[in-house]
Amino acid sequence: MSLPKKIEEMQVEEANELAQQLRETLNRWSKLYYTKDAPEVEDHEYDEKYADLIALEEAFPEIITQDSITQRVGGEILEGFTKVTHAEPMLSMGDVFSREELVEFDNRIQKNVGHSVDYNVELKIDGLAISLVYQDGELIQGSTRGDGNIGEDITKNLMTIKSVPKKLTRPLSLEVRGECYMPKASFAKLNEQQLENGKPVFANPRNAAAGSLRQLNTSVTKQRDLDTFIYTTVEPDQLGVQTQHQAIQVMAELGFNTNPTQEVCANLDEVWDYIAKYEGQRDDLPYGIDGIVLKVNDLQLQQELGHTVKVPRWEIAYKFPPEEEATIVRDIEWTVGRTGVVTPTAVMDPVQLAGTTVSRATLNNVDQLTAKDVHIGDTVLLHKAGDIIPEITRVVVEKRPDEIGDLNIPTVCPSCGKELVHLNGEVALRCINPDCPAQIVARLEHFGSRNAMNIMGLGPKQIQQLYDKGFIHHFDDLYKLTPDELSQLDGFKEKRVNNLLEAINNSRQNSLERLVNGLGIQGVGTKMARTLAEEFGTMDKLMQTSVEEFDAVDTVGETLANNLATFFQSDVAQMMIDELKAVGVNMEYLGTKPTEVQDNYFSGKKVVLTGKLEHFTRNELKEQLINLGADVVGSVSKKTDLLIAGTDAGSKLAKAESLGIEVLNEEDALAKIGQ
Ligand code: NAD
Repeated sequence: MSLPKKIEEMQVEEANELAQQLRETLNRWSKLYYTKDAPEVEDHEYDEKYADLIALEEAFPEIITQDSITQRVGGEILEGFTKVTHAEPMLSMGDVFSREELVEFDNRIQKNVGHSVDYNVELKIDGLAISLVYQDGELIQGSTRGDGNIGEDITKNLMTIKSVPKKLTRPLSLEVRGECYMPKASFAKLNEQQLENGKPVFANPRNAAAGSLRQLNTSVTKQRDLDTFIYTTVEPDQLGVQTQHQAIQVMAELGFNTNPTQEVCANLDEVWDYIAKYEGQRDDLPYGIDGIVLKVNDLQLQQELGHTVKVPRWEIAYKFPPEEEATIVRDIEWTVGRTGVVTPTAVMDPVQLAGTTVSRATLNNVDQLTAKDVHIGDTVLLHKAGDIIPEITRVVVEKRPDEIGDLNIPTVCPSCGKELVHLNGEVALRCINPDCPAQIVARLEHFGSRNAMNIMGLGPKQIQQLYDKGFIHHFDDLYKLTPDELSQLDGFKEKRVNNLLEAINNSRQNSLERLVNGLGIQGVGTKMARTLAEEFGTMDKLMQTSVEEFDAVDTVGETLANNLATFFQSDVAQMMIDELKAVGVNMEYLGTKPTEVQDNYFSGKKVVLTGKLEHFTRNELKEQLINLGADVVGSVSKKTDLLIAGTDAGSKLAKAESLGIEVLNEEDALAKIGQ
C-alpha cells in the first residue's frame, strides 16, 4: 500500500480525493502503456497503485465512478486501424500477489459453487491478447483486445506470424483467444537494433510485441519475429470438451501453438508447487512470463461463475514479485557504436540477479539517464527487463551521498572529440564524424563478426590493436594484412597468424548475404541481408536498385527502401564495394532462391538443432538447411517437424521425444543432406 494512512481512518471525502488522484495517475500510465507501448513505470508500481484504488473503492463503494479504471478494460484503438466488435467481450483479469490472496480467491470460488474445484494452471505469458476468428477452418479475422468490446483489426499483421494457422486441421467455425508475444532473444536483438538506429528501446517484450503487432505497415510486423500461445476458445462446444485443460489440448490438435506447461491442480498446495517450479525456471524459458493464471477447470462452472464488468470470476493471475537488487553505481561509461550512437552504461558493484552476476546496465540514451537521474555514487535498484536485459529501475534517493557530482553528459564524442548531435529529433546522441575511430573499429568488428563475414579469430581485441597500429581502416584493409603485421598481435604466434590469414582468405568466398550484413547498413540485420541477397542476387544489381524496387520486396518498408537506395547509390558505398571487389571478395549470392529449391527431405520442414555437432558449426548447418528450404527455429513445439540432435543434447531432445517428433543424429542428417 502506498496510501498516506489506513483506510479505516479515512472519511469518505478524503478517500474520494485520493481515489481521484489515483485514477488520474493510472489513466496517464495506462495511456502510455497501451497506446504508446512506452510505459513510464514498472508494472509492479502500477499494480500497487491499482490495488490501492480497488481497496478505496471497496471500502467506499459510493466513490466508484463509471469511468474509473477499475470498471473498464484498459486499451484504446490506434488511429488507422479498422474497428472490430468482439462477439464476446475480451476481459481483463484480476490479480493477486500473495498466497493469502490466493486462498481468499479459492474460498470465494468454493463458497459460490459449494465444493472444492480443480484448477487448470497456466503460465501468464507477457504479451498482448489477440482474437482469431475462423470460418470453415479458414482464418478470416484477427484483432486486438482494445477496450474489451472493440478491438483493432490486425488480420494482415497476424497472417505474417508463422505460428498463427491460416487453416485449421478441421473445418470448424470458431473464435479462439491467446497471447501474442516476442521471444526474449528477439526482444534483446530488437532493442539492440533500435539503439543502433537511434530509436527508443522497448521497455519489455510485452510492449515490443504490441508495438510490432499494431503496425499499419505489416512488413514491419513480419520482420519482428513474433509468436503466439492460444489458450481459450469462445465456443468450447465446437470442440466437444468439458474442461479448460481439454480445450487447450484440442486447440493444439487443430494446429494452434499452445503452451505445454498447463497442469490440473486439485488444491492450492499443488498450485503453490506449480508456482514455485515456474518461478524457479522463469529465467530459462525462451519467453517472458509475469506470473501464472489459475482457471476453474470445469467450463460449465466457469459459465455459472460469470464475470464482473472487467474480469471473469473464475480466473485469477498470481503475479510474481519483482526481482530487484540494490547496488552502487561506480562509473558511467560512454561508448560509441558503429552508427555513431553514444550510449551511457552504468558500471556497478556486481550483484546476483535472476541467475547471473550483473555489473553493467545500459541507460540507453541521455533522456533515460536524465529521467532516472543516475549519478556516480548512487544506490540503485536493478531488475532484468523482460527477464533478460539488466536495467536500473530507479535511484534510491534516500541513500544518495551528500556530495554528488553532476551528470556530466558529454557534448563531444568520447572517441574523436567532435561535437555530438541529436539527428532529426532522435533521442540518441550521435557522433556524425565518419572518421571517428570508435565507429571505424565498431564497423570493422561488425564486418568480421559471426553473422557477417564470419572471420574466426578476429575479435574486438585484435581489431582494436590492428587499428591502433594503423594496419586497418577500411574493410578491404583486412584482406591486405600480412603475416608480419598479424604476428604483432598479442599472443599471435605462427599457428594463430596462419589460422587468421586462412579465415580472412576463406571469407572472400562468402555468399553475398554475409557481405550485405557486414556493410552495416541501417535497418539491415542477418534476416534482411539474406532477403536482399536472395531477391537481387548480385551486388551490382543491389547498387542499381531503385527505392520503388526495394519497396516492392515483401518485408521491406518505405523507410528501409529509402535507406537502402541511398546507401547503395552513395559514393562511399561505391568506393567501398570497388575496394572489396579489388581484393577478390565475392559479390554474388551463392545460396538457392527459395523458389528454386528442389523438393527434398528438408523442404518446408520446421527444424530445430541441438547438442554438439562434429562436422559443422550450428550456423553452417543452419545455413545449409535454410538453403534446402527448411525453416530453422530455436525451440521445440508441437509444430516442429524434425530435431537434429548432436551429442550431449538435453531438454530439447527430451521434449521432442515426448511430443513424438522425428529426431535425426548428425550422421543421418548429413546423409539426408547428401541425398
Ligand atoms: P493483465 O495483463 O494483468 O492480465 C490479463 C491478460 O493476461 C489477458 O488479457 C491476456 O492477454 C493475458 N494472459 C497471458 N497468459 C494468459 C493465459 N494463460 N490465460 C489467460 N490470459 C493470459 O491485465 P491487463 O488488463 O491486460 O493489464 C493490466 C496489467 O498491465 C497491470 O496489472 C499492469 O501490470 C500492466 N500495466 C502496466 C502499466 C505500466 O505503466 N507499467 C500500465 C497499464 C497496465
